Amino acid sequence: MEKRIRLPEQGMTQDQLEAELVERGANDAKWRDGKTAVYVFNAGLEIERLQKLAYTSFMSENGLGPLAFPSLAQMEREVVSMALDLLHAPSGAAGAITSGGTDSITMAIKTARDFARSKGRALSVGNIVLPQSAHLAFDKAAHLMDIEVRRVPLKTDGSYEADCTGMEAACDDDTIMIVGSAPNFPHGIIDPIPALSDLATQKDLWLHVDACVGGYFAPFAKMNGEPVPSFDIENEGVHSMSADLHKYGYAAKGASTVLFRSEELYSFMPFDMAGWSGAPMKTPTLAGTRPGGAISAAWAIMRFLGQDGYCWLQGKVCDTRKRVERGVKRLGFEILGSPVLGLIAFRHPDLHAYALYGEMYARGWFTSVTKEPPSLHLMLSPAHADFIDDYLSDLAEVCELVRRGEGGKQAVKPRYS
Ligand SMILES: *Cc1c(COP(=O)(O)O)cnc(C)c1O
Repeated sequence: MEKRIRLPEQGMTQDQLEAELVERGANDAKWRDGKTAVYVFNAGLEIERLQKLAYTSFMSENGLGPLAFPSLAQMEREVVSMALDLLHAPSGAAGAITSGGTDSITMAIKTARDFARSKGRALSVGNIVLPQSAHLAFDKAAHLMDIEVRRVPLKTDGSYEADCTGMEAACDDDTIMIVGSAPNFPHGIIDPIPALSDLATQKDLWLHVDACVGGYFAPFAKMNGEPVPSFDIENEGVHSMSADLHKYGYAAKGASTVLFRSEELYSFMPFDMAGWSGAPMKTPTLAGTRPGGAISAAWAIMRFLGQDGYCWLQGKVCDTRKRVERGVKRLGFEILGSPVLGLIAFRHPDLHAYALYGEMYARGWFTSVTKEPPSLHLMLSPAHADFIDDYLSDLAEVCELVRRGEGGKQAVKPRYS
C-alpha cells in the first residue's frame, strides 16, 4: 500500500522549517563544492546572494500584469533590449522573457508555425528540420503542437556540426523552421550558422538559432578573443533565437529570452483572447502568471555584472575548459570536435565512458554524459577553476582502475530522472 503523506494538522514553526530545509538538501549534489558540472551555474557566493535579494524584491509581483507592475514591464524591456544589442539584432527587433529554454523554443516554433500559416503554408501538419544534436525541447514542443520532427545526421568529418546539405534535403513546402545550435548541448559545438542562414534566405525558410546555453556566453568569449564563429542575429536568415538567462547569464532559474528579428515576426507570438467569461487577456509567452522575481533577478544580475563582469567570468570558464582539454588529452582522451565555450565532451579509445562515469560518480562528481558517441561531458562554471585539478586527478585514477578491469562495477547507465 502506498503511504500517503498528509498535510500536517498543525503547522510547523519557521525555525523548525528552516532547519529541515537545510537537512532536506543534505544528500543533494554538492554543487557549491564544485563537484557538479550540469544543472547549476556556479558563479560564486556574491552572485548567489544578489540573485536571492533581487528575486525576493519582486517575488510576489506578477509579470502577467504590466499595468499593475510597470516596473517589471520596464525591466523586461531593458533585459530584452540588452539581449538584442548583444546578439546584433537589427533595429525593429523584438522579444520577451520566458520561463526557460523549453518555453522560448516552444514559443518560437508556435510563432514560426503561425507565420507560415499566415502565408498559406503548412496548413495541416508542418515540420521542423533539426540537426541530430539539437535539444529535445524541440521534440517536446513539436509533440505538443502535432508538428513533425525531422532529425538529420551530423557531418561525418569529426566536427560534430550540423550538415547543411542533409538539412536542405530534408526540407519541403511544409517546413516551418530549420534549426542550428550555438552551441548544441551534447558536444558543445556551434553549428555553421552563416551557411544555415544562407540556406534559409535562399529557400525562404525560418532559421531558429538555439543559443539557450551560449547566447550569454559566446558574445563575451568573442570579446575575449576566443575563436567564436558568427552565430547570432547578424546573420540575415536568423528569424528567431532562444538564449537562457538562467544558464551562462547567471540569473536565477526561470528566465530565458526569445528574440525575433522584427516586430512583424514577433507579432505572431502573443495569445490574445476575449471569448470567455473573464476579462480579455493577451499573454506573450506560454505562462499565465509570470514570476516577477525571475525578471527582477535577471535584470539585476545583468546590471551588476555588465560587460566587464561577463567577460571576466566567461574568460575563467574558457580557461578552465582549456585546462580540461590539456588534462584529458594527456590521459589519452579525444575531444569531440573543437569546442570554444564552456561545454566539452571527450572519449577514450579503450575505456568505456559509462564505466568511467560510474566511478567518477562514486567519487561524488555529478556530471553529464553524451550518448552519440558515448563520452564524458562537462558544462563548466566559473567556480570550477578551483576544482578542476581535483577532477582531473580523480579521472586519472579512475582510468587506471577501469583499465585494470577493476572499474565498471560502479557502471551506471546515466539518466537524469
Ligand atoms: C538548456 C538547453 C535548452 C532547454 O532549456 P531549459 O531552460 O532547460 O528548458 C535548450 N537548448 C539547449 C542547447 C540547452 O542547453
